[in-house]
Amino acid sequence: MYPFSYTKVSDERAALAAGLRGGRYIAGGTTLIDLMRETVERPGALVDINALPLHDVGVTSRGLRIGALVRMADLAAHPQVRADYPVISQALELSASAQLRNMASIGGNLMQRTRCTYFRDVTAACNKRSPGSGCAALHGQNRAHAILGTGDACVATHPSDLAVALTALDAVVHLHGQDGERTVPVSEFFLLPGATPDREHDLRPGELITEIEVPAGPHTRRSGYLKVRDRQSYEFALTSAAVALRVDGGTIGDARVAVGGVGTVPWRLPEVERALIGSSPSPGTWTAAAARAADGARPLEHNAFKIELLKRTVARQLRTVGELG
Ligand code: SF4
Repeated sequence: MYPFSYTKVSDERAALAAGLRGGRYIAGGTTLIDLMRETVERPGALVDINALPLHDVGVTSRGLRIGALVRMADLAAHPQVRADYPVISQALELSASAQLRNMASIGGNLMQRTRCTYFRDVTAACNKRSPGSGCAALHGQNRAHAILGTGDACVATHPSDLAVALTALDAVVHLHGQDGERTVPVSEFFLLPGATPDREHDLRPGELITEIEVPAGPHTRRSGYLKVRDRQSYEFALTSAAVALRVDGGTIGDARVAVGGVGTVPWRLPEVERALIGSSPSPGTWTAAAARAADGARPLEHNAFKIELLKRTVARQLRTVGELG
């Protein structure tokens, strides 16, 4: 580990000033400390923001507001989140381990880095860690890598389950920075790798995530998350699906579908949603809509299996959510 300074701040002004000077914000530290130990990340200054007043969860008729420092376990267990936004609770409970969920913050969850093994091996070529060095995964072991949103520069999957659920629900990220507050839809907060895979978030220098806002709607109650992985404990997704439906009198009035484990960012499926809206809930509807789930996929040498697995994951979760009362 490289030397670094550590500062604990108690107000936002001090945090933003330290962030502007290049300090890295730290809350639970469950990703950043790992990466520092492996020398993948080498920040010169850490800014501990745990004392900032960003620990509240608010549920109103307008929606859900989640402070950036709320712990994953606390949000997952929140009674109103479990009842009104089950896709969020389920995505969180299928993430990481119980110990990590007790420590990790919601803001940090959105900022976590990819699990690509080459990214975490400082001897390997990796454009995300070392721009311009190449991508060892393109012709290496790429079974777990992305099939959507990829390019020649990077094919790493986005790792957050929560982000997939938030993408399906059209959540918005609130940011504070030197120019004041701004909001960014979650669907735009994560950046496609393009030619700059080292740049993963729409964040300006020193900006701080303060809150996540999830709009209310009749679809949020009828929602759920399915994660398919190599083992049922502490593993990242091979495929996953966040689904929210509104069914009016036997017709699907609204559908939100996003998937994980397959995209370089959380991946919304508008073609699947269009195929659902206006149809009647039925096994045929689920299968026909899910057939569009992998449109545009570009498999690598070892991960073509994800195409069929993704379609089945989406079909199964559509059926599960569609059969909810
Ligand atoms: Fe690095 Fe992305 Fe290639 Fe993995 S897939 S080695 S993160 S550039």
